[in-house]
Amino acid sequence: MKRLEGKIALITGSARGIGRAFAEAYVREGATVAIADIDLGRATETAEAIGDRAFAVHLDVSSQISIEECVATVAARHGGIDILINNAALFDLAPITEITRASYDRLFSINVAGTLFTLQAVARVMIANGRGGKIINMASQAGRRGEALVGVYCATKAAVISLTQSAGLNLISHGINVNAIAPGVVDGEHWDGVDALFARHENLPLGEKRRQVGAAVPFGRMGTAEDLTGMAIFLASREADYIVAQTYNVDGGNWMS
Ligand code: NAD
Repeated sequence: MKRLEGKIALITGSARGIGRAFAEAYVREGATVAIADIDLGRATETAEAIGDRAFAVHLDVSSQISIEECVATVAARHGGIDILINNAALFDLAPITEITRASYDRLFSINVAGTLFTLQAVARVMIANGRGGKIINMASQAGRRGEALVGVYCATKAAVISLTQSAGLNLISHGINVNAIAPGVVDGEHWDGVDALFARHENLPLGEKRRQVGAAVPFGRMGTAEDLTGMAIFLASREADYIVAQTYNVDGGNWMS
């Protein structure tokens, strides 16, 4: 028996990277998945590559109207939503003295408000349907401790961990489990941009930051998106019914080092 058979999942930011790996894993486990992303072209390609039980839908998590439309579309098409992964997020890097108001507003709007209001819209659907559900927020090791050049992103992920606790405690009486995953460093397209930002700010050759962070992980390498899929399946499954308001590290030991 597949662990997510017949479930309807909405995964934000799943056109690529970790979200895409989650979508592929959920479809393998029997779920139908909405690939919800601001990049509809890429989301459509991803859905087509995954197959019949994946479909693309436009979503900009920084827009309340877009969230409401996306959630209503998915719920109407499938008679509800059983699983949400709040995965869409942006990263930025700057010394504290150079953080701009625009970058702060953009990251908080997408990483924090986007997580909260997508969670809210999906929780309302789950409550109306009366069959509970599972909500997984993507936090980060960056939400557990500050990093010199990553102040805003770290603060947004700390907020995601806090929101996971409050929403988890608030919604469990409706049979909705809210938990989070805190990855360490996960290689992929996202890291092309991160590496380039560090190269500029720390005057490093391209690729050097990637090498450094990989070498510092106790496991011996950066994570891959696939390293996270087991936790994402588990937290969405019935086996996780008694798990409430938690944030789990999946980081090759990075947090402890
Ligand atoms: P990514 O940049 O590869 O993918 C992000 C996706 O979100 C993209 O498809 C993008 O189009 C989409 N997106 C951006 N803005 C959006 C918006 N306003 N509305 C909807 N979609 C939007 O990122 P990733 O590396 O796959 O990371 C996924 C999650 O994991 C994020 O929450 C990230 O913070 C977290 N995380 C990543 C790492 C890492 O090292 N990659 C580490 C810890 C946590």
